[in-house]
Amino acid sequence: LRKSRGIGGFAGTLSMDTLTPEQRSKRMAAIRGTNTKPELAVRRALHRAGYRYRLHEGRLPGRPDLVFASRRKVIFVHGCFWHQHKGCRTSHIPKSRTAYWAEKLDANAARDSRNIAALKASGWSVLVLWECQTKRLEVLVAEATAFLGPARLD
Ligand SMILES: [Zn+2]
Repeated sequence: LRKSRGIGGFAGTLSMDTLTPEQRSKRMAAIRGTNTKPELAVRRALHRAGYRYRLHEGRLPGRPDLVFASRRKVIFVHGCFWHQHKGCRTSHIPKSRTAYWAEKLDANAARDSRNIAALKASGWSVLVLWECQTKRLEVLVAEATAFLGPARLD
């Protein structure tokens, strides 16, 4: 009976196959950086506030999370660790493999800066919202409203 559990055994518990659909989609979201929990929280809050937007516009630099095309404005929702939110407690570099992480995270931050510069150069306004801000959604919505202008219910 024990043998019928197959080759996977213990090692298999860490593979994608054994995750629940929810765990798998969470992990894929983390890898792709889209549809993450903070991003979904921002999308829901702004939708409730009456804003309409497109998602993950692939033709724009950095594939912005929310695109308000008629306003020529975009919003990124960044994870504090992966995008190195300056001064944020969750953005610290891990204590092991420090050089590896420092290089990787610096590269992420540099890529973000390039993308934002490219967007601005072609006339887009850019707002970056951070994961840690989603703990106070009313403040976040106020910031987004100041950036976007009033919502039109269209
Ligand atoms: Zn943060």
